[in-house]
Amino acid sequence: MYDKNNIFAKILRGEIPCKKIYESANVLAFYDVNPQKKIHALVIPKGEYMDLDDLNSKASAEEMVELIKAITIVAKKIGISDLVKGGGYRALVNVGENGGQEVPHLHFHIFGGEKIGKMVS
Ligand code: 5GP
Repeated sequence: MYDKNNIFAKILRGEIPCKKIYESANVLAFYDVNPQKKIHALVIPKGEYMDLDDLNSKASAEEMVELIKAITIVAKKIGISDLVKGGGYRALVNVGENGGQEVPHLHFHIFGGEKIGKMVS
C-alpha cells in the first residue's frame, strides 16, 4: 500500500522543500538532494504510485504520457539533452528492494553533466 508519509509525498504536499526544475498538472521534477553525478534530477508523478507496476495499473494514459514527456523536457531544461553540444544523459527507475528503490514513490532519476559510466555495478 502507498505510504502517504514517504519523503516525495511530503515534497508534493509542500511540507519539505525541493529545488524545483519543472512542474505540470501531473508531474514534478527537482534536483536530487544527494547527487550521484554532476547533474542529478528526479522526475515524479504527482499521483500516488509506488512503482512502475502501480503506475501501469492505476494511472491514466494522460498521466503516463506526461511523465515520459517530462523526462525529455527536464533534460532539455537543465542543458544535458543536446547531443551535438556534448550532452547525453541516463534516465533510470529503481523498482523494489532488488532494484535499490529507497523512496516508495515512483521516480525517474536523470543523470548527466559528465560521462555516466557503467550501466550497472
Ligand atoms: P531510490 O534509491 O529510491 O531510487 O532514490 C531515491 C533518491 O531520492 C535518492 O537519490 C536520494 O538522494 C533522493 N532523496 C531522498 N530524500 C530526498 C529529499 O528529501 N529531497 C530530494 N530532493 N531528494 C531526496
